[in-house]
Amino acid sequence: MLKFSGKSVLPGIAIGKMYIFKKKEYTLVKANVEDAEAEVARFQDACEKGKTQLNKLYEKTLAEVGEEHAAIFEVHKMMMEDLDYLEAIEAKIRDEKVNAEYAVTVTGDFFAETFANMDDDYFKARSADVLDISKRIVRILAGIKEAGIDSEEPVIVVADDLTPSETVQMDKSKILAFVTRFGSQNSHTAILARSMNLPSLINTDIELLDEFDGKIAVVDSFHDTLIVNPDETAMKEAEADLKRWKEELAALDELIGKENITRDGRKVNVYANIGNVEDLPKVLKNDAGGIGLFRSEFVYLGSKDYPTEDEQFEAYKQVVEGMGGKKVIIRTLDIGADKQADYFHLDHEENPAMGLRAIRICLERMEVFKTQLRAIYRASAYGTCSIMFPMIISVWEIKKIKEIVEVVKQELIEEGHAIGEVELGIMIETPAAVMMSDELAKEVEFFSIGTNDLTQYTLAIDRQNECINRFYDSHHPAVLRMIQMTIDNGHKNGIWVGICGELASDLTLTETFMDMGIDELSVSPTYVLPLRKKVREI
Ligand code: PEP
Ligand code: MG
Repeated sequence: MLKFSGKSVLPGIAIGKMYIFKKKEYTLVKANVEDAEAEVARFQDACEKGKTQLNKLYEKTLAEVGEEHAAIFEVHKMMMEDLDYLEAIEAKIRDEKVNAEYAVTVTGDFFAETFANMDDDYFKARSADVLDISKRIVRILAGIKEAGIDSEEPVIVVADDLTPSETVQMDKSKILAFVTRFGSQNSHTAILARSMNLPSLINTDIELLDEFDGKIAVVDSFHDTLIVNPDETAMKEAEADLKRWKEELAALDELIGKENITRDGRKVNVYANIGNVEDLPKVLKNDAGGIGLFRSEFVYLGSKDYPTEDEQFEAYKQVVEGMGGKKVIIRTLDIGADKQADYFHLDHEENPAMGLRAIRICLERMEVFKTQLRAIYRASAYGTCSIMFPMIISVWEIKKIKEIVEVVKQELIEEGHAIGEVELGIMIETPAAVMMSDELAKEVEFFSIGTNDLTQYTLAIDRQNECINRFYDSHHPAVLRMIQMTIDNGHKNGIWVGICGELASDLTLTETFMDMGIDELSVSPTYVLPLRKKVREI
């Protein structure tokens, strides 16, 4: 039995097999092989495995986002069966007596270049696909695991760290818990883990040894521990704790349908934060009063290319409709910094958290912004929908946004689309927005305070950097004063103010926020009922 310690991101208990998730980059080596036929057989076997992976990806994507996205995996499978491609690789292995990894890479590059030089746009586009399938085969040959989880049963994912896009691409039904060696409490991966309601530990002092793969472990994020190969006593204790925890969770269900009201009669809206359509059942199950933050960028991160207007419309519509008239606040694309999608081709930046991100990208890339606004406005006809804009620092930005919104609305109306009444609000997550909140409040209908970024920018502490955790104080008076200032300026101008950053679920601050006059707290679905319980005890 081995015991490791970490830092809890979401308290809970999980018992299961460990899945060591290693990110390995393949470095190409050319090697001579004695037995070319055996090497050809190894290549053919890798192709079979590749096709199985592609079949699975097709099924998963079809079920989660539909045929349009899934079709690409069918195309890849067909390309993996293309005789010209296969024979060229096999000939290279036989003629030059080289290893399969080398033959696949060189042949793949040659095919890709040939496609790229064709005039036909369809064939040009296949260039990226042939590279993709070649990389897949090489990864299989080199024994590098897929970004997803290659296990039939749910597992405890153990990694150095996980990027938001790696996390969203994982099959959630296969994950019991997350354990990472690095990471910070406010990173988006931690936020995703919370929204998935998975017990999670970060900063865990474990080595990613292959021998841990498949070993039974207990994640106890109540006590910040990971036990590998628990002995009989530890296992019995863990099973009893797991049972107790499940009972406590079940007891919270008694609060379903009850008001979020203090004992002296003050009310607050308790909403939920989501990143995807898949989070909707958790919102409904936990009886949230609305969705206070739909991080729409996760719709982009889960996609291999820009999601089209129709694809986005479907996602937003499902959520808006699914909430049955309850408010859904969709935040426009907040990509950049730690949330990267390759197809945006964002330049390398020295300080990405302060770089081209969020609303700045939208105001620079008007087509991307307009496509999203069109999709949201079309979805607004199916329920109660609000839009909020991230990373605002100036009044001119919101004036510009409102101009664009008007153009989009007019276009949709002229095209005959139905649109609903949409409240417009902004995130208050920069010190500039706090200081300008009296003027910004005159331009919008609500404020939602993003304490994750507000804390990062106010304290000058990178939310991704675990090395400075010691200096990080989520209850820092500077942040609390900024929250108070924002609420006061919002109320003076007749608009409501909420918090959608992680601080909203810090139950030790609930009473402080109520005293400050907060109107709404938006938290991961898992926290809705514990927060309701807390409010009712005040
Ligand atoms: C925040 O900054 O507090 C917030 C809610 O936005 P995100 O965490 O997605 O940056
Ligand atoms: Mg933010």
